[in-house]
Amino acid sequence: MFKKQLSILFVITLWFALTIGLGTKAFAAGYPITEELIHNNRSGESLSPQGFVIHSTDDPGANAQAIHDYWDSQYAGSSAHYVVDDHSIIRTIPENEVAWHVGPTGNHKFLGVEMTMPATHNQAYFNETYNRTVWLVADAMKRYGWNINDIYSHHMISNMWPAETDGHTDPDEYLAEYGKTFDQMRADIQATLNQLNAPPAPPAPQPVVQKSAPKTQPVVNPEKAKKVEKAKKAEEVQNNGYIEIFGRWVWQAIAKVG
Ligand SMILES: [Zn+2]
Repeated sequence: MFKKQLSILFVITLWFALTIGLGTKAFAAGYPITEELIHNNRSGESLSPQGFVIHSTDDPGANAQAIHDYWDSQYAGSSAHYVVDDHSIIRTIPENEVAWHVGPTGNHKFLGVEMTMPATHNQAYFNETYNRTVWLVADAMKRYGWNINDIYSHHMISNMWPAETDGHTDPDEYLAEYGKTFDQMRADIQATLNQLNAPPAPPAPQPVVQKSAPKTQPVVNPEKAKKVEKAKKAEEVQNNGYIEIFGRWVWQAIAKVG
């Protein structure tokens, strides 16, 4: 019975350990990325990325798979390394290859990610897409050692090279619809990077176990010890005397009976 209780306790402990362990792992690992490389809209040029440009598609209702399929199936004259929606991050072009998202100068410097849009206003869709994009960019910052000044909106790139970018201002409007600015997005990316860079939490403090103090040897007073010894002996003698008297009495009694 006790054994059975012990094994149940063991199973519960194991379950807790696994649940907490896996939960932490999932958080540390962020979001899964699916690689589905496209066959069209590929430059074939090599890229050493120096930063990330964040876009929104301006194509309501087309999720990440739909955008992927569009770029994959035909020439569009545009592409990005990543497409994100409310449940997935798809890598469509390797990070070491130029994509077509911000004009020739920027394309040869930066990675690009497209945030997709729901068909109609949808806060949950936005939140999931936003959080995935924030994590994706923070993770790249950690991997490449970039700082937040290496992270741009398409709008910022348009201001830097106006002749090359057709005046795009995304993703500002998409963020504004959900009460965000690009500055806030950068702050959220920085906060996520800080989390990714945070040293692992120190182990929980162990309860302090008070070691039993070493037993002090009783101080022996030789005089007192002698006295005690004497008293013990006296008692022994006395006891022996009683035993002797008792023995004699028993002996006499037996003799009488006999
Ligand atoms: Zn754009």
